[in-house]
Amino acid sequence: MELNTPLTEFPGVGPARSKKLGKLGLFQAGDLLTYYPRAYEDRRRVCSITAAPEDAEVCVEVLVAETPRVSYIRKGLELTKVKVADAAAVMTVTFFNQSYLRTSLKVGKEYVFFGRVERVGGQYRMTNPVVEKADRRSVTGCILPVYPLTAGVSNAMLVGFTRKAVEACAPLVEDVLPESLRVAHQLMPRAEALRDVHFPEDFEALEDAARRLSFEETFCFALGLALLRRRRDGGVAPVLGGGSETEFLNLLPFPPTAAQRRAMAELAADVKSGRPMNRLLQGDVGSGKTAVAAYAAFLACKSGAQAAMMAPTEILAEQHFRSLTALLAPAGVEVALLTASRSAVEKRAVKEGLRSGAISFVVGTHALLSEGVEFANLAMVVTDEQHRFGVTQRAALAEKANREEETPHILVMSATPIPRTLALILYGDLDVSVLDELPPGRTPIETYLIGEDKRQRMYNFVRKLTGEGRQAYIVCPAVEENEEAEGTQDLKAVTVYAGELQKKVFPDLRVAFLHGKMKGKDKDAVMSAFAAGEIDVLVATTVVEVGVDVPNAALMVIENAERFGLSQLHQLRGRVGRGEHQSYCILMSATRSEESRARLKALRDTSDGFKIAEEDLKLRGPGDFFGARQHGLPAMKLVGQSLDMRLLKEAQTAAEELLRGDPELTKAEHAPLRRRVEALFRDQSERLN
Ligand code: ADP
Ligand code: MG
Repeated sequence: MELNTPLTEFPGVGPARSKKLGKLGLFQAGDLLTYYPRAYEDRRRVCSITAAPEDAEVCVEVLVAETPRVSYIRKGLELTKVKVADAAAVMTVTFFNQSYLRTSLKVGKEYVFFGRVERVGGQYRMTNPVVEKADRRSVTGCILPVYPLTAGVSNAMLVGFTRKAVEACAPLVEDVLPESLRVAHQLMPRAEALRDVHFPEDFEALEDAARRLSFEETFCFALGLALLRRRRDGGVAPVLGGGSETEFLNLLPFPPTAAQRRAMAELAADVKSGRPMNRLLQGDVGSGKTAVAAYAAFLACKSGAQAAMMAPTEILAEQHFRSLTALLAPAGVEVALLTASRSAVEKRAVKEGLRSGAISFVVGTHALLSEGVEFANLAMVVTDEQHRFGVTQRAALAEKANREEETPHILVMSATPIPRTLALILYGDLDVSVLDELPPGRTPIETYLIGEDKRQRMYNFVRKLTGEGRQAYIVCPAVEENEEAEGTQDLKAVTVYAGELQKKVFPDLRVAFLHGKMKGKDKDAVMSAFAAGEIDVLVATTVVEVGVDVPNAALMVIENAERFGLSQLHQLRGRVGRGEHQSYCILMSATRSEESRARLKALRDTSDGFKIAEEDLKLRGPGDFFGARQHGLPAMKLVGQSLDMRLLKEAQTAAEELLRGDPELTKAEHAPLRRRVEALFRDQSERLN
């Protein structure tokens, strides 16, 4: 077996099953090695029947004492009963619907039964245990890995495949970490780590393995970003000397906040330096990032160059197009719009204008990246809601610049507050400006945390606000990827819940729903109708999280609030309070967990996104920041609990040190590392399409 041996060569994998495995990202033997368990079950404890505790599952080693008997109870229910014995006791074992055991369990042979031993009136019993032959154990007597699954792929199957793959292939994997580094940071060799992360002898071994793998991921990631940065810093960019700050401030309908002014000054200094700007503009929802972005575009256009701004959805692009047109037209800067849904004629006209240089500022979606989009003189690239775009997409737009020697300036905006410590890692290739202040005059959003007993009052409140002409969001937990069965349930939850609300609770209101599995066009249609005030109550998953501005929406209700991360809840809350109306956020939760309640109370009592993010990081650890969130940077496959800030920083510092000695990774001993880092960023660009 090789790393690239296709899984179709594994026993029992035909076309149907290989498709299912493909859904999990598993195609070749090598893929199994980095398909990490999501949990572990300790099945090591062995007891005699009489010594087994009643409150835990254990392995008992027994002989089968008689031929199993099968009895048919009713349709869909067959019982298989068998007597087994060890040196001191006899036990009756019952299986539901596993009548094949009648022939596979052989009298007089040794087996391991893993389950809970019950004592009923002096008799020993076990129900539905895991059974294996004593001489061919694979899922008992060990710490069993538990993998993320999909319909048609069982854990036992993955355990079997992974065991084979690890035995045959783990030693074939190149160790990208140089030995000196491994020694210095006490990290085990990669082959060992891959074995132990799946099949650890004990939990200490597991922890060491996870630590080694997480270190490697972070380390390579940090190297990659540092290399990107070096390359850019070495580049030359156009000097944007045109456009005065005073002229721009005169265009703004409001005085900028101190934070906006600071960010504007920072970016103005960047674009005059002759070196490419690579700046992240972080600011809470509503902090006024658009005005800063407009300034960047303004400086480019006033210097006789072009600017492009990319938004993740059509609605957002259109929204920016409208507000930026209004803002910049008086200064003679015309704005064009390019999205997939514009007519062929319109698209052609925009493309021509960009190629000839007649259009100086274009706002659009991914369509900006499509073929045939060429710029005469692109000097400024702005991406909004950066976590939706990857590093490589930013780069792709910059590459359109079509300049001989020069690279354009890049400004990326994100409304996801990320604690500084993490930002250093996630955005290691960027300088950061922070808008840590909201424009004055905002009425804070009133946030409430309530239980099921007040559901009726919540409905009454929805009715009251919609009666006043406002609109409301009701958000339900999102559909998890890779969890088909549960996913469809949740998905149904949105549509069914919306249906019920419409029928039973708000028959006189206009209720609609929105979820991630809908077609892009349908989603946009619903969102536009909501923005136009044609929907009163929008029941949605977290797809409403990003960007859209509906000033008339004044109420955000979040169902099962305990199921969301704090930062995510904060993002959702930011969907309201965007107009002049007093706005409200109601967190519905029936949770009794002290910890969950503490989290939700923290959200209720704070409106500062950065504080909330710090709290989130403290409570849930950095794994969630990298994992659950779409940060748009190359995916890190971090292993469970092992990840703490200390390890992240250690890896980050180690990466900096290594680059100091070998800035381009050209030393022979760093060749595997270099290949790995390049692959990390290359894969990402493929995945994004
Ligand atoms: P975000 O950072 O979420 O993208 P926007 O740029 O959309 O925020 O700004 C949110 C709202 O605040 C907009 O309606 C914008 O016109 C307004 N705004 C921005 N800056 C200021 C300011 N300095 N004073 C008053 N209103 C502002
Ligand atoms: Mg915005």
